[in-house]
Amino acid sequence: VALYRLHGWGAPYFAINDSGHLCARPSGTVEGRDEVDVMEVINSLAAQDLQLPVILRFPDMLRHRMRELQGCFSSAMIRFGYQRHFEGVFPIKCNPECHLLDQFVEFGFGLEVGSKPELLIALSKLSSRAGALLICNGYKDSVYVENVILATRLGIRAVLVLEQIEELEEVVSCSKRLGIRPIIGVRAKLSTKHNGHWGGTSGDKAKFGLTVTEIVSVVYRLRQEGMLECLELLHFHMGSQISSILAIKEAMREASHTYCELALMGAPMGYIDVGGGLGIDYDGSKGQSSASVNYSMQNYANDVVAALMDACVLKGVAEPVVVSESGRALASHSSVLVFDVLHAHHHIKKPGRVDNVLEEERLQLDPLRNGHVSTSQSHDAGEYLLSTFYQVYATLELGNAQEAYNDAKQLRQEAGSLFKLGCLSLEQRAQADILYEKVCQQVLGFGSQLPKEFKLSLPSIYTCNMSVFRSVPDSWAIEQIFPVMPLHRLNEKPSINAILADLTCDSDGKIDRFLGPSGETSSVLALHTLQKAEPYYLGLFLGGVYQEMLGSAHNLFGGVHVVHLRALGDGDFAIDHVLPGQTAGQVLSGTYHCRTELLRELVRQASSSVAAGKLSQKEANLLTANYQRCLDSYTYFSMLSDCTDH
Ligand code: PLP
Repeated sequence: VALYRLHGWGAPYFAINDSGHLCARPSGTVEGRDEVDVMEVINSLAAQDLQLPVILRFPDMLRHRMRELQGCFSSAMIRFGYQRHFEGVFPIKCNPECHLLDQFVEFGFGLEVGSKPELLIALSKLSSRAGALLICNGYKDSVYVENVILATRLGIRAVLVLEQIEELEEVVSCSKRLGIRPIIGVRAKLSTKHNGHWGGTSGDKAKFGLTVTEIVSVVYRLRQEGMLECLELLHFHMGSQISSILAIKEAMREASHTYCELALMGAPMGYIDVGGGLGIDYDGSKGQSSASVNYSMQNYANDVVAALMDACVLKGVAEPVVVSESGRALASHSSVLVFDVLHAHHHIKKPGRVDNVLEEERLQLDPLRNGHVSTSQSHDAGEYLLSTFYQVYATLELGNAQEAYNDAKQLRQEAGSLFKLGCLSLEQRAQADILYEKVCQQVLGFGSQLPKEFKLSLPSIYTCNMSVFRSVPDSWAIEQIFPVMPLHRLNEKPSINAILADLTCDSDGKIDRFLGPSGETSSVLALHTLQKAEPYYLGLFLGGVYQEMLGSAHNLFGGVHVVHLRALGDGDFAIDHVLPGQTAGQVLSGTYHCRTELLRELVRQASSSVAAGKLSQKEANLLTANYQRCLDSYTYFSMLSDCTDH
């Protein structure tokens, strides 16, 4: 547990059971009455022929997070004697999956949209919920504005938030045309900035929001049009994953006074929307790193409410309803990406079949034993290099392990250079490789006595059945760290330091930044050795927001299966929804390849090859059947067992 810092980032939703399996506790109870053994889920999915990778989604965790956020704001409001309530709206962009959004809406949350397609979802989902809150951000053309204004007639509290000053005239004219009073909000460009990766959304240079001057001019213009009574909401969003509570406190002071001033200028107001930004602890370091946060959800709610209370009391303005657009803090935990390891490539190979063959030849290859001993006077560069290499190997001991390893690395590199110059035979080069491995094996044999940095410099590569670009794009794009750990064998000490490689043919398709056991970032992950014919499963956590939508079809790896799980108590679980991932045919159609045409062309070519005698009918049938089967199947590696370790 300590090795993967599970308590830090996973509590109260994930724990390890007596079988050494990772288990989920969807309702967030520490006693784990609703524990679901993830390995049992994987076995059950395998029995249904559902291949990995798969996203396990736990909607109960979403509900628990929503309840927590509401509870924190209620406590803060009681504590400070705040007279209004809290309302949550979920930003659709964080994860627009249909069933996930239903969870939010059924719980009583509203939705936040930032584009026309998102608006389409929200209008339909909220239309049956009288009084539901809909926050409309993003760029707005006239159809967007018209639909939002019309939505108020459906009973939705649809707020048009002005993000650009230019939007105001569209809103005014559309409202006049329709004869419907809109609910208007303004997004403030606060001068307070936060320094995390997503801090660019805040500060004077922010892409969105109105400056102070623009906000004042909105008030004047609305007053001029007799529409000031439509201005009800002030919104701001400082960016996602705010790691410091000080930034939140400062922004809240600025926003609270802006809110009060708008009320004093005669706008009815009533709502303050504090945006998203509530962060989570990705590395479990409790604020010690930028991937973490130095505050709790309760601290956050307290500071939001306290700042508002202070400003409202000072300026004699009634407290507003507090709206939050938290996405990351609500939905990250509820998704676990599960994938299997296909291969382990060890930097230092265990002697295998190929090595044994070389071993038999070793006597002939070995320059010291076959009589071709060279000396420094030798004119044969290859023999001289091999003889030096052999000396390094023969004199290796704990005291000079690091030095011997460095020499071996350099000599191996030089062997490569000599080979390219034609001064080394293929056999001699193979011998240099063998000596290199021998040195490494012996050095590693010193085990725990070796310096840690040295061990870290020799990671194994575990090839995983997934695509980083599809499932964890932020790990590649912005080097964000996500917790990764084995899902079983957790009562067994891992013995391998590894990095993860994905299925894509892209050297960036790897994960080599992990949570270190003491809170530091580590370049390797501690994993177990693969066992023959035994699958090895890993889980990647906290990827429930942004990743699924930002992910792309690099190398044409498609969307992965998503399974919604519900704990039934006593270890039982129900699978409520299986949302199938994309087939190859579906991914191909995304780049305008027509499935039928592709198949027709292949069949045509196979038939003419049969006619020309280049292909037998049996082979042609096999080829076209395989082709068709591939078009209709999952894009990932289809092997549930039979891992190889070499
Ligand atoms: N609201 C707006 C306007 C956003 O741009 C975002 C995302 O950056 C959010 C809400 C959600 O933020 P978070 O996921 O940090 O809660």
